[in-house]
Amino acid sequence: MTTLLEPGQIPQASGEPPRVLAADAKDVFAHRARRFTQLAEGHPLGDYLRFMGRLAQAQQRALDAMPAVPVPDDAAQSQSRQHGMPVVPAQSWRRDSAWRKALRAILEEVAPAASEAAAVTLKAIGQLDDAALEALADRVLRTELYGVHADKLPFVAAALQVYWTRLATQLGHATPQPLDVPGVCPCCGALPSASVIGASPELPGLRFLHCSLCNTEWHLTRASCTACDAGESAVAYQHIEGDKGLVQAETCDVCKSYLKLVRRDKDASADPVADDLATLALDILVDESGFSRSGPNLLLVPGGA
Ligand SMILES: [Zn+2]
Ligand SMILES: [Zn+2]
Repeated sequence: MTTLLEPGQIPQASGEPPRVLAADAKDVFAHRARRFTQLAEGHPLGDYLRFMGRLAQAQQRALDAMPAVPVPDDAAQSQSRQHGMPVVPAQSWRRDSAWRKALRAILEEVAPAASEAAAVTLKAIGQLDDAALEALADRVLRTELYGVHADKLPFVAAALQVYWTRLATQLGHATPQPLDVPGVCPCCGALPSASVIGASPELPGLRFLHCSLCNTEWHLTRASCTACDAGESAVAYQHIEGDKGLVQAETCDVCKSYLKLVRRDKDASADPVADDLATLALDILVDESGFSRSGPNLLLVPGGA
């Protein structure tokens, strides 16, 4: 049975906890912006994190300004559900041009805060025609984040996140159940950027995966690998000494992958995207032990932060 949920709303009724949570469209990026600003204080990457905070703030404004977008009709939605397919799949859903409008608004808003290098990137994106932007969007949605134009992709991704968050929250009440493949988003089919314990104060001990694209969160049993489903004995945790364990890397000995686990139950201000970018040192540590990351952070320029 599908759990009926308005975006951002947690049912208080007893019984089964919801297995899929749509983002709170009013605050998802604003919360992230506040967290980036908080994490920037005294951080070696403070300037970068502050700029990412501006970007998240611009995402919230673009989302606030985005009118309702076309979503699949009821028949298409129930067909997706029947076949265990995502409802608005990242790689095949026909994007509305609203995402490009969001991109232009985001570029304009972050420009005054951009470093010299970022200003060059922003200007270059501004000169691309629609076809070139759509081609970059295709790359982001296929998670091909390396190579030529890699510096432009986080901004394209930021606008796509706004658009897909609008889609996911519009579908809110019809949010699907997790798919048969537990490691991909039931709404858009994208990979998770991290997992979260304490997705909301009402669900303190449960672990949810956080979609890297549409900000939907879906339930997955704790202490199992998010990529290959291996059980507890294959999973181990690493964190940076002295950081209170708020962000841990959950590694899997079977598939040699890892994904970060963000303890929102320990600090409600923690955010799976912001806390991820503030703990790149943990990625280096885990990479060096031979694990590779199983889900992307679409705002990260590989080797560029
Ligand atoms: Zn998603
Ligand atoms: Zn695994």
